[in-house]
Amino acid sequence: MGTESHAAKWEQFKQYVKKMKSYEEAIGLIYWDMRTGAPKKGIAARSEVVGDLSGELFKLSVSEEMREFIDYFSKPEHQEQLSFIDKRIVNECKREYDRSKKIPPERYQEYVVLTAQAESAWEDAKEQSDFDSFQPYLEKIVEFNQEFIELWGYEGHKYNTLLDMYEPGMTVEKLDQVFGALREQVVPLLAAIQASGAKPDTGFLKQTFDQEKQKKFSLFILEQMGYDFDAGRLDETVHPFATGLNPGDVRITTRYLKDDVNSALFGTIHEGGHALYEQNISPELLGTPLCTGTSMGIHESQSRFWENMIGRSRPFWSRYYAELQANYPGQFDGVSAESFYLATNEVKPSLIRIEADELTYNLHIMIRYEIEKALFDGSVKVADLLRVWNEKYREYLGIEPANNGEGVLQDVHWSGGAFGYFPSYALGNMYAAQIARTLDRELGGLDALVAKGDLHPIKAWLADKIYRHGKSLTPSEIILEVTGEELNPDYLVDYLREKYSDIYKL
Ligand code: ZN
Repeated sequence: MGTESHAAKWEQFKQYVKKMKSYEEAIGLIYWDMRTGAPKKGIAARSEVVGDLSGELFKLSVSEEMREFIDYFSKPEHQEQLSFIDKRIVNECKREYDRSKKIPPERYQEYVVLTAQAESAWEDAKEQSDFDSFQPYLEKIVEFNQEFIELWGYEGHKYNTLLDMYEPGMTVEKLDQVFGALREQVVPLLAAIQASGAKPDTGFLKQTFDQEKQKKFSLFILEQMGYDFDAGRLDETVHPFATGLNPGDVRITTRYLKDDVNSALFGTIHEGGHALYEQNISPELLGTPLCTGTSMGIHESQSRFWENMIGRSRPFWSRYYAELQANYPGQFDGVSAESFYLATNEVKPSLIRIEADELTYNLHIMIRYEIEKALFDGSVKVADLLRVWNEKYREYLGIEPANNGEGVLQDVHWSGGAFGYFPSYALGNMYAAQIARTLDRELGGLDALVAKGDLHPIKAWLADKIYRHGKSLTPSEIILEVTGEELNPDYLVDYLREKYSDIYKL
């Protein structure tokens, strides 16, 4: 075929993928609406709408037409005529197509029904701390995933196929290495912190804080970060989240706790970090499958960078503490910025992942990683989970849950079949520390900028190095291009050691 027909074919393909993005955006908006206050009585019917639209989207991703597009644009003579970005669009569609095509539709349908039932079974089980009622669901979900792994195929460890869904290219081999190195340093650091006599006073964090004032301060910090309110909004939900519909519409939510000044604030900064990523994807990628974050791990690196490395830093509070005091008149009289900083960084082994501090958080993730890996190499059965979970908590954190609700049942992920997702959180911490080191060097000092409240150059740098690329670069390409080396856990270890040795006077 000549150039002209090639161009015409590409135009058709672009229209086709744009239509898929339209379905995706509609589904995303409906989800946002369902989670932020849609009337209860409409939820059942609305869920059916989501089901129908998702079904249509799935059909588009595996259609005969899609197969023809992929075949055509995968031919070497046609590849030659494509730009770098266009090749990546084809790759992304092919990845999705291959993965979806390998699962018989009726098996996939059964699985979707199973996970929907399992999520509601999990909610009850968690509430009652009753693992037995959830166990049969989880066993089936693991079996389905084992079946899917065989159909998808795998290289090396079976769990690699699941990891690859959330962090393209990530493997057990690599994770064993980086988590191993991290654990080796974090466990003794935690022991030293627990033995330290320097314990931050945290009492003043637990007062009653007016919700409107919490909201006002959260909005102020978002604006300081460079969150674009003309391309987003902040709402309230039980579980905070960020959703990028397109770069011009990236919404976030937070949760206000009356007796905790930090929960909503750091939740907002975290989701704000996710949002900055999505708001700053290049317009050139609009309407393509590349118009999103490149992976869960890189996404999480941005939320955690803003939340922990900026929001929980000393220079941040030296700059913004006076504003916090003024926002809550009288409530922080006699509390210094330094005391506030120390309290905000208290380290304490706890049972609940989402409430964990910056240091022990990584151990919660390693426990889940070890367990998932073992479930898929067959060395642990679902029936062993209670025992294994409690053993690992004792081993890694020195504590054991009193009931399963605060133990093995605490997270929603497994009920939805999201095995392979958890490592993203700890990867995010590692990526964040590595990226922060480069940023610090290239911008001539991260702390100095934060201490001045000059956050915009930081956002601009991240937008240029990471955000604008969307999914056109893989996570490993991004980390290599930005920092000049592969993922290296030493940066996180150094950051944690330096920060917490100072706080706990080690
Ligand atoms: Zn996050």
